[in-house]
Amino acid sequence: MLPISVLEKAQSELCCYGDSGCSVMEMSHRSRSYKNIFDQTEEKLRRIMDIPDDYSVLFLQGGATTQFSMVPMNLAYRGQKSAYAVTGTFAKKAYAEALRWTDAYKITDGADGNFSSIPEIIEDNLEDDLAYLHITGNNTTCGTMYHTVPKHKNIPLVADWSSGILGKKIDVKDYDLIYAGAQKNIGIAGLTVVIVKRSLIRDDIDGIVPSIMRYADLDKAGSMLNTPPTYAIYLSGLVFDWIEENGGINAMEEMNIKKSNILYDIIDSSSLYKGTADKKDRSIMNITFTLPNEELTTKFLEMAEERNMVNLKGYRSIGGIRASIYNGMPIEGVCCLAQLMEDFEKEN
Ligand SMILES: *Cc1c(COP(=O)(O)O)cnc(C)c1O
Repeated sequence: MLPISVLEKAQSELCCYGDSGCSVMEMSHRSRSYKNIFDQTEEKLRRIMDIPDDYSVLFLQGGATTQFSMVPMNLAYRGQKSAYAVTGTFAKKAYAEALRWTDAYKITDGADGNFSSIPEIIEDNLEDDLAYLHITGNNTTCGTMYHTVPKHKNIPLVADWSSGILGKKIDVKDYDLIYAGAQKNIGIAGLTVVIVKRSLIRDDIDGIVPSIMRYADLDKAGSMLNTPPTYAIYLSGLVFDWIEENGGINAMEEMNIKKSNILYDIIDSSSLYKGTADKKDRSIMNITFTLPNEELTTKFLEMAEERNMVNLKGYRSIGGIRASIYNGMPIEGVCCLAQLMEDFEKEN
């Protein structure tokens, strides 16, 4: 969900942005009007996330999935070692892409436990010559989340925070590179944000890597090596405004904890619903649970739809129920789901 006030603001400016005489969708990305929007959007993100000056912020395309490949190609020499904490569906995909370029190994693998927890990374198992360590901050489909930053010696720490960014306080300084697709908590599909320590941006990477996939080239061009996703960037700026007006990221996190606890309290006291994530690692963004069988799951989803609640079906390869309660989901929406869960349990 996006906050309704953000949609309304976008609507009011849809046909004509300020006194520009045109829609943001119609602007040249090189125009002064657009440059202003772009610069302000970066400034706002730097402010709300408190991004230090020695980090570059890139506004790119291709989704988090493209970063699965760009990270290895830009941070590792071909064949160099990298370590992956495999904690869920997307972590697995990131690892698979890394294998194309680096000598990647799994530093942890949660597959045996159905990705129900975040296995601890043992620092001693990290080899010294690693190009980087990759983690997935919030595991969108499995409903787990890193609540603390793993110890990682001096090895560059890379995190896919697609589904947790802006929903929880992330100290950028703890990481060397953070990336996130925008469609979960930042704005809409089409934009990918990469926050990378400048010292990690290298010019001397393998010649086979296309310019459009090189952080160095993209950074030098201020994310405008080609046409950036102009409207998606503009819209994320509106979301950043909304976050600031509503108390910043700390307030977002507080609200997300509150929202998730409403659902976890029901799950914990229920004999019908079973949480799929270990309590200590539970996500505050994606709440996952199962019902005893397929029949009841379908019935639950039908009752949800009757009450105008959609998108509750678990990820296609995981099943069960998943409630994604990103920043834009108001607490009232979570209460509706809680009511449904209670009513359904009484009847079943
Ligand atoms: C959604 C998601 C992705 C995939 O993002 P795309 O933008 O569709 O490529 C990757 N990682 C995580 C953690 C996600 O939640």
